[in-house]
Amino acid sequence: MRILVVSTAVGPIGQGRGGGVEVTVGSLVRGLVDRGHQLMVLAPEGSEPCGCPLRTVAGQLQPPWQQQSRDAPIVQPPHGVLANLWREAWALQAGHHVVLNLGYDWLPLWLGPCFTTPVLHLISMGSLSQAMDQAVADVARTHHGRLAFHSRSQMESFGIRHGVVVGNGFDLNTYRFVQEPEPLLGWVGRIAPEKGLGDAAAAAAALHRPLAVWGRVEDPAYKARVVADHPTCDFRWQGFLPPLQLRQELGRCAVLLMTPRWQEAFGNGVVEAMACGVPVVAYRRGGPQETVDHGLTGFLVEPGRVAELAAMVEKAYRLDRHRIRRRCQERFAVTPFAQRLEDWILAALRQDSAKGAAGNGNLAKGPHL
Ligand code: UDP
Repeated sequence: MRILVVSTAVGPIGQGRGGGVEVTVGSLVRGLVDRGHQLMVLAPEGSEPCGCPLRTVAGQLQPPWQQQSRDAPIVQPPHGVLANLWREAWALQAGHHVVLNLGYDWLPLWLGPCFTTPVLHLISMGSLSQAMDQAVADVARTHHGRLAFHSRSQMESFGIRHGVVVGNGFDLNTYRFVQEPEPLLGWVGRIAPEKGLGDAAAAAAALHRPLAVWGRVEDPAYKARVVADHPTCDFRWQGFLPPLQLRQELGRCAVLLMTPRWQEAFGNGVVEAMACGVPVVAYRRGGPQETVDHGLTGFLVEPGRVAELAAMVEKAYRLDRHRIRRRCQERFAVTPFAQRLEDWILAALRQDSAKGAAGNGNLAKGPHL
């Protein structure tokens, strides 16, 4: 298939604003190209190469939904990159069998049925906004098969019980396995309230262990608050590392903490740590509750229970790092992820042709498959 992938409008690929989506783009391209598909990625200007032809589009970045209230209206900045990306996707659609939307935005969900080429949506976050919930529900009603999610709990946050869950995939050869870690706890993510760095800091302080923090500071005031609230935590700020570099570093940690305050859709950091042999202690919430094998690759703790978090870290030190890495290979490699994506795309296209149209209603069909 010829697949047009539209990346997130919140930031160029490679700079960290797009969070997990930036890593998903890489895995998705790698896996689908390996399976013989032809991909092109559309992404904001300044994006780094991602393993297939890339077309970049200028414009003002889209404000991320996670920084807005549930009842916030849809925002379209002047000369917005989101509108420009989808204008370009509209122009390029005829040369593709399918358009794959990776952004968490209202516009493509609303616009998708008007395209002549089917637009599929890999939703990257859980329910955060009424406007987005409605847009997702509309697609679920008219083109259920066009939606896919990273985890079951993420899907269910939209009130959808039966749908496509594709998980995520990682190029595991790019992660450095480390058998003998440093006496260091780790935390990976955008530094923003919903990612919950504060609880990890409290646990690290209670354990008298340094806490290495990797990630882009999205909310400087939040970072300052966390530092002020946890004066005895020995933070080791690592800044935002390019993904390939982070994969060489993560294995230094004895244990990774994942303490989200929101419904984490998948939580790439969990799997990326496991790929390096690092056990993970995570809150039993969102994606991590599905990716951590309790007692094998890490431990799950009820959200907010910091003392339990610290106790589980002590237990996690004893987990077998080789087994963690092996389990990660069994569950999260790129090839099965790409297979699941392909199955989803083909099933959605079949559903569309069964309805007698490539798009919504009797619109022209895409290139012949
Ligand atoms: N990341 C990175 N460099 C850093 C910190 C994080 O490349 O210094 C990547 C990390 O590997 C992960 C992504 O940023 O894949 C964050 O994704 P996640 O699903 O954990 O959270 P999101 O930001 O999407 O909420």
